Parts: sequence; C-alpha cells; structure tokens
Amino acid sequence: AEKAVVGPLVGAVDQGTSSTRFLVFNPRTAELLSHHQVEIKQEFPREGWVEEDPLEILQSVHECIEKTCEKLRELNVDLADIKAIGVSNQRETTVVWDKVTGQPLYNAVLWLDLRTQSTVENLSKRIPGNKNFVRLKTGLPLSTYFSAVKLRWILDNVGQVQKAVEEGRALFGTIDSWLIWCLTGGAKGGVHCTDVTNASRTMLFNIHSLEWDKELCDFFEIPMAILPNIRSSSEIYGLMKVGALKGVPISGCLGDQSAALVGQMCFQDGQAKNTYGTGCFLLCNTGRKCVFSEHGLLTTVAYKLGRDKPVCYALEGSVAIAGAVIRWLRDNLGIISTSEESETLAKEVGTSYGCYFVPAFSGLYAPYWEPSARGIICGLTQFTNKCHIAFAALEAVCFQTREILDAMNRDCGIPLSHLQVDGGMTSNKILMQLQADILYIPVMKPSMPETTALGAAMAAGAAEGVGVWSLAPEDLAAVTMERFEPQINAEESEVRYSTWKRAVMKSMGWVT
Ligand code: ADP
Repeated sequence: AEKAVVGPLVGAVDQGTSSTRFLVFNPRTAELLSHHQVEIKQEFPREGWVEEDPLEILQSVHECIEKTCEKLRELNVDLADIKAIGVSNQRETTVVWDKVTGQPLYNAVLWLDLRTQSTVENLSKRIPGNKNFVRLKTGLPLSTYFSAVKLRWILDNVGQVQKAVEEGRALFGTIDSWLIWCLTGGAKGGVHCTDVTNASRTMLFNIHSLEWDKELCDFFEIPMAILPNIRSSSEIYGLMKVGALKGVPISGCLGDQSAALVGQMCFQDGQAKNTYGTGCFLLCNTGRKCVFSEHGLLTTVAYKLGRDKPVCYALEGSVAIAGAVIRWLRDNLGIISTSEESETLAKEVGTSYGCYFVPAFSGLYAPYWEPSARGIICGLTQFTNKCHIAFAALEAVCFQTREILDAMNRDCGIPLSHLQVDGGMTSNKILMQLQADILYIPVMKPSMPETTALGAAMAAGAAEGVGVWSLAPEDLAAVTMERFEPQINAEESEVRYSTWKRAVMKSMGWVT
C-alpha cells in the first residue's frame, strides 16, 4: 500500500497513576492520529500503602508503543515520520533499581501512599533552625506526598536497597527517570536523568538554584550519588534502544500536571488549568516569579522548555482523591462496574439528597494538609441509595476544586474568570455541569482531552535538534472548546458549599 504522506509526527508516553498511554500527534494541527491505553494494577499490601510494579509499568509502555505503531501501520503511516518522543508521568512516585541488573529493588511507592506518616513526624521534629527550611527551598510542605520521605522509608526498611547503595549499584528516580533509563538502554548504558518539573516534586531539589540541594539531602540523609542528572523539560536525553521506534530521540519530559499546563497552552502569567485524574490538580502559571502561598498551595516548577530557556513557576492546589473515589465505588463497593456508570447513577437522581462524601482516603491535601483526616459519608437517611452516593462522590470532586480555586484566587488577587479542565473524569458531563454550578464560573473543556500527552509531545517536538513543533497558539488549530455555564444561582451554590465544609470538619482528626 502507498504510504500516507503526513509529514513529521511526535509521540508521547503518558504514564499515569491508573493507566499508561502512548499517543501520536501531528504537530501542525495537534491532531491525535492514534493511541493505545493499558490500565495499571495497583497493590494495597497494607492499609494506607499503595504500590505499583515498575516492571509492569515499563511493560505497559512497550505494549502501548507497539500497539499504537501497529495501528499507524494500518493507517499506512510511515513510522519513520515519528521524529521525537515525549514522556509525561505520575509525579513523586518513587522507584529504586539496580543499575547492574537493571531490576527494580522494590515496588514503586505511589504518591498517595501513607506509610511514611511516622517518618514525616520524626523528620518534623528534626527540622534545623527555621521551621520553613524545607518549604523555602522546595515550595512544598513536609508531607507523606513527596519522594524524599518515601526514599528515606525505603532506605530504612528494605535491606536490599541499603546493600545496593553501599555497593554503589542503586539508582533512584521518579517514574520519568525509571522509564527514560530503561528506554535508552537500561543496564547497557541507559541515561539517568530527570527534568526540573519532576525534580521539583522530590523535596530534594532547590527550586531557586534548580539543583539538588546538599542541605536537603543531608537533612533526609539521602546519598546524592543515587540521584539522576537534572535536565530541562525539552532537550534530547537519549535515543530509544528497542522496539518499533528504535533510534527515535526522547526529547521531552514533564510531570503530568506540568505537561497538562503546557498542553492547555497556559503560557501566560495567571493562566490556569485543572486536571481530573486519580487526584485533582489545579495549576496557575506565575511566570518567572516564585510565589509562596498563604493559603495551603504549593510552589512548583511549571516548565523549562529548553536548556537556555527561562524557568517558569506555578502555584498548585493538589487534591489526592478525585477519580480514585470513582474507582473505589467500582472496586471496593461494587455499586458500579465501570467509571462511566457513575454518571448514569448520578443522572437518575440529579441530587445527593443531603448526602455528603468526603473522600479523605489519604488524609486531606490542599488547602488543609491534614494527615489525620479519613473518608466519611454523612447525611444518610433511610431514603439514601447508591445513586445519591455516586452523586455525592462526583460533587465531592467539585467541592474540593472549589476549595483550591478559592485559595488560588486569594493568593493571586485576581479571581479566575473561567476554568480550563482536562483529564479522564472530564468525559463525565454531570461532573462538568456540577463544577460550573459550584464554582459559579464557566468551565471550558478542550475537544481533544489528552492534554497531558499533548504537552509532553509539544516539549519533545520543540526540542533543539528536533524542531518540528513551534509552540505557537495557531498550532492547536484542531482543538476547540466545550463550555459549561453555571445553571443554579450563586446563593444555592453557597449553601451547598458551606454544608460541604461542615462535612470536611467532621472528617478531620479521625486518626490520632
Ligand atoms: P490518571 O492520569 O491519574 O491515571 P486519568 O486522567 O486517566 O487518571 O483518569 C482516570 C480516573 O478518572 C480514574 O480514577 C477513573 O475512575 C476516573 N474516570 C474515568 N472516566 C470517568 C467518568 N466517566 N466518570 C467519572 N470518573 C471517571
């Protein structure tokens, strides 16, 4: 068959908490040509523990790449047109592996894992001098969420890892580092690197100097020799060593939330997006300024799109549990058999009938940072059924977003006029309408929902030496916006929101 003439293309690996995807875009229109997705198994070996198998994650990436390439061949696309690959990934999740055997030394400890609660308490007591020591350098509160405490726990508890560190065989990385090392050759010369956005979530990285911080490494007692090299988010890190895309440069790397910010073209100071995946993450670009929140938000690196390009920062509101509450309704309660069914149930009743669901499964993140909180469902009556509970679960995601948006508006001074959204949950129309009602501003959803992958592809395509993506707004010609306008009145919205806040208060202080 004749090859379809399409010109240069860019691929992106999107390794999320719940699934892995590989997608191929046309950089002239941002059109998605083909993709493949594989769900990732999560393990809960003990209460509060959440793990994934790094080899399963790697295998899922290979599978997604190969399947996508098969689909492209069926479309008569010449695989040689794929000029670059970007990587975006779940952030903070911590992997330690053996650079000689190429094997992981322990399961990946996920970002929402709570095993490090006592590690955090012990570290808090030892903070030297200024109580804000960690936050001023990293932009982050000391919490179970970030990699340094997970790595500390692994070093303290996994004999194999300690031994490998002593023998100079251990490497640490977040998922981006693990994947790029494996894809560029693994034990046979893999590149051990990370980008500034992923590094900014480890709690070992100084967001001002853009380097690993010696004082932080001393504080967490982390040997600096196991840390990856820090690179920008857009440059050639290495070449694919195996598979259908062997020889293609990997030239973009962004943590998933930064990637979505780029994919939504939020390049101006004050532009923001909210991503609804396993958790929910609202990021607002603050440009070259490193803004510190007074209201429980994090300061993080937004992106640095090239070695000689400036770094941009963001304020971030992080919610641990969003889509995960829907997965919980499916896997733990069994009241739905697919995530999509949550919409069918919620639609049947159109109200939670006074039921409120605070899914504080991993404590509460922004704006509370309250590890003692646990999930509650309250306001139950004889009349409450599974439809009301599904509705309350969706509404919880919207209320949590309202809380971080309020914090963002207070920190920035200028309230957002609309909210740009993306992520797996945004295909749920009831959720989008509820969100507009609860925020009382329009919610704007791009027609191409894979903005995380798009951002990684943009970074890869724009890299020096690749140069197939210009990052100009007209490059997103194929993307249109769907708008959800608030439909209930502001007063009604406020009453519901204040009842939610009462429910949040009840969820706190549950574990002591
Ligand atoms: P991640 O990047 O964290 O892996 P995704 O953006 O892929 O997450 O979104 C997956 C999450 O969204 C899952 O937790 C799933 O339960 C939830 N989800 C997917 N589709 C829907 C839907 N139609 N309604 C509600 N939740 C959904």
